[in-house]
Amino acid sequence: MKVFEDYELKKHTTFKIGGKARKVWFPENVEEFCELLKTIKSPIVLGNCSNVLVSSQGVDSDVIITTSMKNFTLEKNIITAECGVKAPMLAKIAQEASLSGFEFMIFPGSVGGVVYMNASAHNQFVSDTCVEADVFDLESGKVLTLNAQQMNFSYRHSVLQEKKYVLLKAKFAMKIAEKSAVDALVERNINFRKNKQPSLAQPNAGSVFKNPENDSAGRLLEKAGAKAFSQGDACVWHDHANFIVNKGSASSKDVSNLMYKMYNVVKEKYRIELTPEIEYIGTPEKDEKEIWDTMLKRK
Ligand SMILES: Cc1cc2nc3c(=O)[nH]c(=O)nc-3n(C[C@H](O)[C@H](O)[C@H](O)COP(=O)(O)OP(=O)(O)OC[C@H]3O[C@@H](n4cnc5c(N)ncnc54)[C@H](O)[C@@H]3O)c2cc1C
Repeated sequence: MKVFEDYELKKHTTFKIGGKARKVWFPENVEEFCELLKTIKSPIVLGNCSNVLVSSQGVDSDVIITTSMKNFTLEKNIITAECGVKAPMLAKIAQEASLSGFEFMIFPGSVGGVVYMNASAHNQFVSDTCVEADVFDLESGKVLTLNAQQMNFSYRHSVLQEKKYVLLKAKFAMKIAEKSAVDALVERNINFRKNKQPSLAQPNAGSVFKNPENDSAGRLLEKAGAKAFSQGDACVWHDHANFIVNKGSASSKDVSNLMYKMYNVVKEKYRIELTPEIEYIGTPEKDEKEIWDTMLKRK
């Protein structure tokens, strides 16, 4: 297994932002991953780093990045994948086997990240197909097998956010479908995204804020004028106001300050307090911490 010391996390984040971590580990299978989880105290576990803002000040703990864990099996309509398998790879495995349910997974997450967030798009959710998950309980040091109900999925939520569980692998029950129908849906989704989301050529971390109930964060932000906002090299994307792109050398503080401007303009105009979808990882500066404490309603 590869391990690096004093390692810059921005090499891995889709935002191209993030300072150094003491040690970064890249386990290659579930056994190696479990050994690390048993020995490292309070590790930060990351997948494809596509939904995180990592502090430019760095991270004061050991980090485990799972994307070298690429094993999966396919039996009839059941796909079982280790947590590091990337979402577009899952979509491809399913598409080639004429299985429906992953046509939406054309964004840069990993199995661990998509299950943690119950990722969704185009009216498909991870929770539609995820029937079982093996997790490592950091509290007891035991591996548990959870069923769909125990995963407690809801919008952008799973039990992985409630307990000290780390996803090892997940099992998905897919729908058997016509290959042409799966192909058509994937193509439609890819085309839809072309104008609606920035590609990774403009570093970003997907939607910045969660959608409030019965509304869209992008719609509210656009109506409130957020498309004109920027802070240093962090800019609200010109085609969709719920994305921030890094024009080159944005810091985590630039992004945090910009998010706070976006949060405040919607709050002032619509009395709606948006909740960040992006997660902050690492050691923030004092004012950065205050911004995140306010947006996350932490005391
Ligand atoms: C261009 C772009 C488009 C996007 N489009 C969408 C979209 O349409 N729909 C959508 O839902 N999201 C979208 N996203 C956001 C993102 O890809 C998803 O949230 C994805 O699920 C994150 O996966 P990740 O592996 O990158 O997670 P990371 O960013 O690495 O981590 C996110 C969180 O998951 C936790 N985590 C990761 N692995 C594990 C594990 N094994 N066990 C426990 N916890 C773990 C981390 O600790 C962290 O808290 C998009 C992002 C980008 C950049």
